[in-house]
Amino acid sequence: MTVTDRLPVIVVPEDELRIAVGYATDPGGRTENEDAVFVAELPASDVGPATDRASFMMVVADGMGGHQGGEIASRIAIDTLRESIGNGTAADADMAVLMKQAFRRANERIYEQGQAQGDGTAMMGTTLVAATTRGKYATIASVGDSRAYLVRANRLTQITKDHSLVAQQVAEGAITREQARTSPQRNVLMHALGQQPKLDGKLPSIYEITLLPEDRLLLCTDGFYDVATDDDLLQVTLAVDPELAAARLVTLAIERGASDNVTAIVASVSAARVRKAISVGAAGGRSVLEPVLVAIAAILIMAMIAVVYFVL
Ligand code: CA
Repeated sequence: MTVTDRLPVIVVPEDELRIAVGYATDPGGRTENEDAVFVAELPASDVGPATDRASFMMVVADGMGGHQGGEIASRIAIDTLRESIGNGTAADADMAVLMKQAFRRANERIYEQGQAQGDGTAMMGTTLVAATTRGKYATIASVGDSRAYLVRANRLTQITKDHSLVAQQVAEGAITREQARTSPQRNVLMHALGQQPKLDGKLPSIYEITLLPEDRLLLCTDGFYDVATDDDLLQVTLAVDPELAAARLVTLAIERGASDNVTAIVASVSAARVRKAISVGAAGGRSVLEPVLVAIAAILIMAMIAVVYFVL
């Protein structure tokens, strides 16, 4: 018999984050869907005890290029990330480094495929935005203008910076944010995967955030930008069920006449009050609490005897 068998188990509440993820995609205003989406829960055994649960990988890609080039490019991007990270990673591996390597590999594969297929698909490429969570830590990587948003305390914040011409013009003060929304050049990208043999050294852009209970993450393609306001995205993303939220976002875009493919992933973060059992004293060893409890009990008994003797 060990000490832990005899002593009571103290139950203490411990906050843990739970993450639920839903996604939806639709051709929207087009006949073909060149967007691709992938969501997977990372194997818990590979994540390690220090990072708890709630480990997901979420990826959205928006392909471009004629003769199915866009579909091929977005599919290669998703497949490369799934193969690199989606099957599990070492618990101590640096997720930002893994994501960078996977993005660079995806770029090379798409470029090689484009070259191999010749004229029609030579210019094929894709945006790629990916988010991984390990417990409360989220790592987001992006190339192109598909976006990751954070919804926190009833506010929508764009996490990723668009690699687009209009985003650059806004940053330089040449045009306003509102002008960017309606600019005829709003679809012109500065960076995408598959356009160059090697991805630019500063890419992908990496963002690391610490998640809080009630946060939402939204990953989406640019099909929403023309037809949904920030407030639309905020209100719909706040739905309790992330699968329903993603489906509603896509439906909303279609109802408003989206001319492009539309894809959304919604992740909702919640605090699970887990009642975690912590044993008093290590198994196999004597607890320091035991003599203390005995002493307290002895003092109480002596006090009661004293009360009976002197008062009664
Ligand atoms: Ca698009």
